[in-house]
Amino acid sequence: AAKDRGRARLEQFNDELHARAEKRMRIESDLRAALREQQLFVEYQPQVRLKDGCVVGVEALVRWRHPEHGVIPPGDFIPVAEECGLIVKLGREVLKESCRQLAEWANQMPDRSLAMTVNVSPRQIAEPNFIAELREVLSETGIDPTALCLEVTESMMMSARQEVIEVLERVRQLGVFIAIDDFGTEHSSLSRLRDMPAEVLKIDRSFIDGLSSEPGDTAIVSSILSLAYAMGKHTIAEGVETREQAAILLRMGCEVAQGYFFSRPVAADKIAPMLSTALWQPRAAVALHGADA
Ligand code: C2E
Ligand code: MG
Ligand code: MG
Ligand code: MG
Repeated sequence: AAKDRGRARLEQFNDELHARAEKRMRIESDLRAALREQQLFVEYQPQVRLKDGCVVGVEALVRWRHPEHGVIPPGDFIPVAEECGLIVKLGREVLKESCRQLAEWANQMPDRSLAMTVNVSPRQIAEPNFIAELREVLSETGIDPTALCLEVTESMMMSARQEVIEVLERVRQLGVFIAIDDFGTEHSSLSRLRDMPAEVLKIDRSFIDGLSSEPGDTAIVSSILSLAYAMGKHTIAEGVETREQAAILLRMGCEVAQGYFFSRPVAADKIAPMLSTALWQPRAAVALHGADA
């Protein structure tokens, strides 16, 4: 009987593996069609300077309008795209489209400076053509390279081979900035961090969640902020969902934040109207939540 149970479990396991492989293959072939038929589009999430509520940048985030399943979030297809290599083409499209959009904003609002961060994958950076393509996008769109910042995740940054670091250094030489995304979630080595060509640390949402309730999270965020300050790096907090979190971050010296509290990621045409108003009133918030805590 034990043997039968074992066999049944094995069969179930095989079925699950099979179903997963099938799903992955379906996503892969749908994704191929999506790239061909331009079903991918980009939304932009405002990044807000905490001391005055001004939108100083946006993060470009890809979405997929699937003909049958509706809009699919990147978490459901980026990992597959990475596995099968389609990420190279996908990433190229996102970079082109977001730089085109940034150029459009710069033309519409010549007096307003706006930065843009774009997520890039390890595989994309490892492509031999990556730098050439980046230069091409910069020259075709005419955007100011210093308005562009590429986000690489902390895990990829810390495990990157020397060649990849060299590519990132060449990105810096073009004037484009590098941010470390999801910072704090991996074991980062401080000496490695010191040597990385990155100017911005993006504090992972998981620590922002517990800012008012978990003393441990508050301690982590405050150490990341002092570390960034001491290393001369800028900071962006991600996943700010409440006024209280924003007020705490401001008090702790964080410069810029993004999150549903300010705005969800939105279509490009929703961004322009946000550029002429403050997305929050820091004075009122600090008064409410105390400047003494
Ligand atoms: P990420 O780069 O860390 O992006 C932040 C994610 O948090 C986004 O999810 C954003 O919509 C979400 N978010 C922002 N504010 C809040 C908040 O206040 N609360 C909560 N709960 N979530 C918030 P999204 O758009 O689903 O993207 C997920 C991940 O997919 C991104 O994480 C990034 O790693 C990846 N991704 C997105 N676009 C691209 C892309 O063009 N290329 C690559 N390689 N990866 C991308
Ligand atoms: Mg990101
Ligand atoms: Mg992130
Ligand atoms: Mg994150």
